[in-house]
Amino acid sequence: MAKSLAPGSTIGIVGGGQLGRMSAMAAARLGYRAHILTQEADGPAAQVAAGITPGGYDDPATLRAFAAAVDVVTFEFENVSAEGLSLLADLKPVHPSPKILGISQDRVLEKSFLNGAGVATAPWAEVTDEASLRAAIETIGLPAILKTSRLGYDGRGQARVATPEEALAAFHRLEPKPLVLEGLVNFACEVSVVVARGADGQMASFDTVENHHKNGILDLTFAPARITEEAAASAQALGRQVAEALDLVGLLAVEMFVDADGSLRVNEIAPRPHNSGHWTMDACPASQFEMHIRAVAGLPLPAAGRHSDAMMKNLIGPDDMALWPEIVAAEGLIPHHYGKAEARAGRKMGHVNRLFPKGSLPGPFGINAALGPLAEPTAQQD
Ligand code: AMP
Repeated sequence: MAKSLAPGSTIGIVGGGQLGRMSAMAAARLGYRAHILTQEADGPAAQVAAGITPGGYDDPATLRAFAAAVDVVTFEFENVSAEGLSLLADLKPVHPSPKILGISQDRVLEKSFLNGAGVATAPWAEVTDEASLRAAIETIGLPAILKTSRLGYDGRGQARVATPEEALAAFHRLEPKPLVLEGLVNFACEVSVVVARGADGQMASFDTVENHHKNGILDLTFAPARITEEAAASAQALGRQVAEALDLVGLLAVEMFVDADGSLRVNEIAPRPHNSGHWTMDACPASQFEMHIRAVAGLPLPAAGRHSDAMMKNLIGPDDMALWPEIVAAEGLIPHHYGKAEARAGRKMGHVNRLFPKGSLPGPFGINAALGPLAEPTAQQD
């Protein structure tokens, strides 16, 4: 984009969930209107947006109406069809590009792209039928993880398999095909880097953070990651390398495994704000959502350094939300509610951030205590 979007312009966001909500709030702070394409007229993003186009992501008439209402298009949601996006791209600028979205939607394309750019991943092989499953087991070995190539998220659409029989059963169960068989990485830690890149190639990357999952869903993020400085710096370099290789305009999260020797492998990329970047809302001068909007709107990108160390905990389902009155009353917890009416099991309902002076992120016992009403009865293990 040669010119930056003027205040008062409208940023179209495809997808109406919490990432759209927090992007819309960041857009409003910069004087923009957010306009959401969503099926949920009272969903998290619609509640805080200037306008919405209700309807499906793949309906041409809906997409045309959405494009007519906005100046630029971005997304918070990856499972938009390639046809839908190219229709939008014919009408308005779309950032990140439909090509990047296409790569991130499909593990086969994603891993091929990463390996082609010289980026290490877990060993993997495409599985389309029983014969290719046997061949994949032969080259990758077992135990391994069988994953759908498309439409998997939060640990869904995948199965750990230890024997050929288990692999065959999972092959028949998992949909949609094709699948990917991935070697099991014996990682020491999972980290991620969120990087913003403007049309002029300027980049800003948030500090490398450490992620802990529960039941396949992100539970806790620690900023900074408790890994060596060298590994954290390599993760930064890798995040930026992937953003450049994609010719990104917008925001990109790069999830990585850190091996015991500090070497890194990329697990997944997501060209949008990411759950592991929510800590930036309170610990950085400009959050990941502001960086996203800035990159998409052609504004300069400020430095992404943190002013505080931070911990983020997701609030999942009815159990965590039952604690909401205690959470909002707890000293030091910074609550973020997504405005979802119904707290179903496994659903991301909100998150809390907690800040610590830079350089003083506590160890596991201190972290657990710092969670207040959300603390585990026994200390959170690493
Ligand atoms: P994904 O849906 O690919 O992000 O995987 C969800 C989670 O499963 C990751 O965050 C890891 O904890 C775990 N996982 C995925 N792939 C592997 C792998 N190849 N080796 C070990 N753990 C994995």
